[in-house]
Amino acid sequence: MRFFIAMVAHETNTFSSIPTDRRQFEARDLRYGGELLEAYRGTGTCLGGMIEAAGARGATLVPSLAAAASPAGRVAREFYEEAKARLVADLGAAGRLDGVLLDLHGAMVVEDLDDGEGDLLAAVRRTVGPALPVAVTLDFHANVTADMVRHATLLHGYKTYPHVDMDDRGREAVARLMDVAGGRIRPVAAHRQPPLLPPIGGQLTARGPMRRLLDRAAELERRPGVVTISVFAGFPLADIHDAGLSVYVATDRDRALADALADELAALAWEHRREFVHTALAPREAVARALALEGGPIVLADMADNTGGGAAGDTTEILRELLRAGARATTVACLWDPGAVRACVAAGVGATLTLPVGGKVDPAHGAPVEVTGRVRTLSDGRFVHKGPMFRGLEGRLGPTAVLDVNDLKLILISYRWQTLDPEMIRFVGIDPVAEKLLVVKSSIHYRAAFEPLARAIIEVDAPGLSSSNLGRFAFKRVRRPIYPLDEM
Ligand SMILES: [Zn+2]
Repeated sequence: MRFFIAMVAHETNTFSSIPTDRRQFEARDLRYGGELLEAYRGTGTCLGGMIEAAGARGATLVPSLAAAASPAGRVAREFYEEAKARLVADLGAAGRLDGVLLDLHGAMVVEDLDDGEGDLLAAVRRTVGPALPVAVTLDFHANVTADMVRHATLLHGYKTYPHVDMDDRGREAVARLMDVAGGRIRPVAAHRQPPLLPPIGGQLTARGPMRRLLDRAAELERRPGVVTISVFAGFPLADIHDAGLSVYVATDRDRALADALADELAALAWEHRREFVHTALAPREAVARALALEGGPIVLADMADNTGGGAAGDTTEILRELLRAGARATTVACLWDPGAVRACVAAGVGATLTLPVGGKVDPAHGAPVEVTGRVRTLSDGRFVHKGPMFRGLEGRLGPTAVLDVNDLKLILISYRWQTLDPEMIRFVGIDPVAEKLLVVKSSIHYRAAFEPLARAIIEVDAPGLSSSNLGRFAFKRVRRPIYPLDEM
């Protein structure tokens, strides 16, 4: 069989003032044709799983475009149109196909276009016609819309947060696509959107309401006639009509069954809505508690400044508190400040300098902090993820400097990337396990790799654009009423 394969991925935080233009895609990932296969083969990603499963089943892949950028503000219309045109042109030139494999995010918002993936899938459907099966993997944070359901044959959402099953979903998409292409199944789908907008901090899948939902979904998925079930937690900070939790059930030709199972899961989510609400400690209280604990490393999770949720990655409230408290044997990973990196590079390794760091994007989330430190190391910011997330994939932090401020090591980076892998600390010569305190700018993903090495984890509710305190945001477009923005 012959399958077209492409990836277009962006999680858009519509509250962010950082535009997502072509440069942001170039900094993270923008590849064409065979490069897609080279870069992703053997990695713990959806594309990695698709490539492996296609190879194992003797399918030929026709690679097109792989485009991903760090979460930030709306995607530039010009870049989106360019990517869409490229994908559609490649599809038109691909020759005879048995199916299409797409790795999308599901929470991409384009300038003047709220439903990025719905529009992209409509274009794909127009190009390939109504009969060719289109299988799509989607992030757990997808804000799934009716257009996405209508134009795709099957959707496969991640079942974990932290996302450690991306390659499994890629393999699943290939297996089901072969079933459809081979005429063994004919999927019909039901989609439900209870009025529920779970904050990021309440979405983890290890326990709590998401675990309960996913366990029930897994039971239902084993029933005869069920093809696949996804429960999407949604991405609350993409302020669009369809933001929020949704349920997707596909069965083999059985619409009544799909409807019944989707209704059951939507009702279960709604019943437990209050358990999604998340609270954490203020920076001062969190730092005091961390310093009072024996041993280390104690992980302080800066949940609200998670670049993976579209936050700037340069807020300073926790850093300010650590300096005030005189914290030592501490690493802050990582602070996005390309200007500060340039100053460190100009000064050179071993030099001591005084400069303001962080707080450049949105001073309302914490002003720059003046520090005096010694440049400990400089690097080009390239490393390889060790997993469990993105295992084998190259990470790029851009020019990177470590500034040592009285044994508080500040990792300054030039490209925004979530602290989800201790390798981001190790590759600049710091042993994370030897530290007393580690600050990670991440909401949930850090747990996959940091939980096994952390003595304790303290969640911090500092200012920032990925805050789980949704009352801090002025929502304008999401459908109302919706819980917890409205008491229901
Ligand atoms: Zn996600």
